[in-house]
Amino acid sequence: MQFVSTRGKEQVSLSTAITQGLAADGGLFVPVTWPAAAVAQLPAGDNLAQVAEKFLEPFARGDALAPHLAAITAEAFNFPAPLLPLRDEARLSVLELFHGPTAAFKDFGARFLAAALTRLRAGLQRPLRILVATSGDTGGAVAAAFHRRPGVQVTVLFPKGLVSPTQQQQLTCWGDNVQSLAVRGSFDDCQALVKQAFLDPALRSEFELSSANSINLGRLLPQAAYYVAASLTVQRQTGAPASFVIPSGNLGNSTACVWARRLGAPIEEIVLAHNANRTVPDYLSEGVLRMRASVPTLASAMDVGSPSNLERLSALYPDAVSLGAAVSAVSVEDNAIRARIRADHDRYGVIWCPHTATAAEAWARLPAARRERGPWVLVATAHPAKFREIVEPLIGRPVPVPVNLARLFELPAQYAEIDPTLAALRGRLAEAA
Ligand SMILES: *Cc1c(COP(=O)(O)O)cnc(C)c1O
Repeated sequence: MQFVSTRGKEQVSLSTAITQGLAADGGLFVPVTWPAAAVAQLPAGDNLAQVAEKFLEPFARGDALAPHLAAITAEAFNFPAPLLPLRDEARLSVLELFHGPTAAFKDFGARFLAAALTRLRAGLQRPLRILVATSGDTGGAVAAAFHRRPGVQVTVLFPKGLVSPTQQQQLTCWGDNVQSLAVRGSFDDCQALVKQAFLDPALRSEFELSSANSINLGRLLPQAAYYVAASLTVQRQTGAPASFVIPSGNLGNSTACVWARRLGAPIEEIVLAHNANRTVPDYLSEGVLRMRASVPTLASAMDVGSPSNLERLSALYPDAVSLGAAVSAVSVEDNAIRARIRADHDRYGVIWCPHTATAAEAWARLPAARRERGPWVLVATAHPAKFREIVEPLIGRPVPVPVNLARLFELPAQYAEIDPTLAALRGRLAEAA
């Protein structure tokens, strides 16, 4: 199976799409064809890794990764994505995607990418140097996924003093082949620095640079697997297709769900739950796309004003009318996120992270007739313990910390501070080489 750039005709294999990240014309890779039979043939009752392997098989056919697909999916999907009922709600359940090493859904994609890249790089002399600018979950998931993998070095850049203590610990607890840099500047400075590094010919000849951000197909495509598995489970349990409410920022997770449906998974409605960054909800209601600067919110991993993966959705649904027929979108302000965390803790005894609370609030705002239709699935993207500074004052009790995270909290933190300049970054890269 080939993948084509959203901006042109460039067609590449799965391994090339994963190695390259971005297409040469600046576009994003999307499948050329949609082998819908793949989902229909999946046997009932398989575990997540087996569903992922069978579902992804047509995409890897003929590719260098094909012989490794079973091993890659076994590595990437080695923790569960349970679908749990909510107390007193017959038509609503929760898909928990946060049981991986850094307790957010990004662990799935980061682990798949790491497992694939490690195999594609096997036998090559020069280490691959992955640069990640992060304001939260991405850096931790990528660092964890590549930690101690041979032939790869990771440099994580985060804005000094602008991530929560819990987040900082997850970005700085790794060591070995993971280097953590606290940049004296903003998240935008970190991102600009990474971009500058990629554009600098001298640096590029010195190091083999790569990125692991969410526009990489190797992070996005495997995410479709948990939607396939969950929707098949819902269909088996209820006889009806599932509808999903998805906390959304850069639209990687929701694009994966749209792709799963396009590939034949029994999925009905897809609701995108955004925070106060309302680019997508406004596009659907006004019909005009206005990308903008992001605004900070409690659901910080979704603070995106210019969502990259909209380009992938637009490749399928080119205007607001057709996209609006495929998905709907809701914007939720911080005060409603806070109120929803409190209300659902009282009502169901659950603890949401601020991102998941956005989805819970979006669901609660749906017209009753749509809510009753269901069955609905709220997608829980992170464990609340990652955001305990926000959540604990709202629910008035400590958030229990899962063992995965507790282990990370105990590791010694190590990082270096740098100014937001290319010279400073180059110095640190050379040091770690
Ligand atoms: C990254 C992230 C999101 C947003 O996902 P996108 O794929 O960028 O839309 C939502 N919730 C959490 C916890 C995240 O880490």
